[in-house]
Amino acid sequence: MRALPASVLAVCGLIASACGGTGSGGAAAGQAAPATAVQQQAPAKEALPKGKPLDGKVVVIDPGHNGGNRRDPAAINRKVNVLTKWKPCDTTGTATNDGYSEAAFTWDVSTRLAKILKSRGATVELTRSSNTGVGPCITERAAIGNKAEADAAISVHADGSAPGNRGFHVIIPKKINGPVDKVVGKSNKLGLAVRDAFAKGTGLPYSTYIGRDALSHRNDLGGLNLSTVPKVFIESGNMRNAVEAAKFRDPKFRQTIAVALANGLQHYLEA
Ligand SMILES: [Zn+2]
Repeated sequence: MRALPASVLAVCGLIASACGGTGSGGAAAGQAAPATAVQQQAPAKEALPKGKPLDGKVVVIDPGHNGGNRRDPAAINRKVNVLTKWKPCDTTGTATNDGYSEAAFTWDVSTRLAKILKSRGATVELTRSSNTGVGPCITERAAIGNKAEADAAISVHADGSAPGNRGFHVIIPKKINGPVDKVVGKSNKLGLAVRDAFAKGTGLPYSTYIGRDALSHRNDLGGLNLSTVPKVFIESGNMRNAVEAAKFRDPKFRQTIAVALANGLQHYLEA
């Protein structure tokens, strides 16, 4: 009971607006004040000590492409400056041979990932709000992470390569004598954490055709070049490979991917 004033203070610290009104009123009411304080403490005592692992962390998830992109080629093909070159604002992305689009895949995985991260305490922002729109441009996708001052950002993709190629890889930014330089080191750590958790959680092999040990360092992606927060891309696998396409079509496997990505992000954020 000696802890009561501290607890009440802590509650007021967290919910300043709620406590601002009752604080002085409670004191003036004399005997009524302790009773009110005890009532307020009861739920707070359960909520406060139980911190979630990602409390206070901000994560921005970028679901690659968008379901409406093919409908507006003029907007999507507009060239934007990604510092090392000019590139189209966005692309339509790839698809499985039977027509399951990368945009639908990245949207589904990203919304699952957002839900998991929120349940672990993180504040999560997505770079698009549906899978029926157009864009945003890759420059804007980076800007959203920067504006949110994300502790970590991840862009979710799947590749479209030759049918015999297998596996996933993580893309990490390179120094370009630009704004991303200061977060290349942290992005490397994030990339390793995501790589390890993805391999462990999904059982998918390291890419047989890109990078080394499922890591690829690039300086041609706007989403990375323009990021001022630690950021990586996950290329979840090859949608043109029959084995991986079948997995990506399975909602249970997409949940497995989302959990693996959440674990990788969490390992990085807790380190
Ligand atoms: Zn993609």
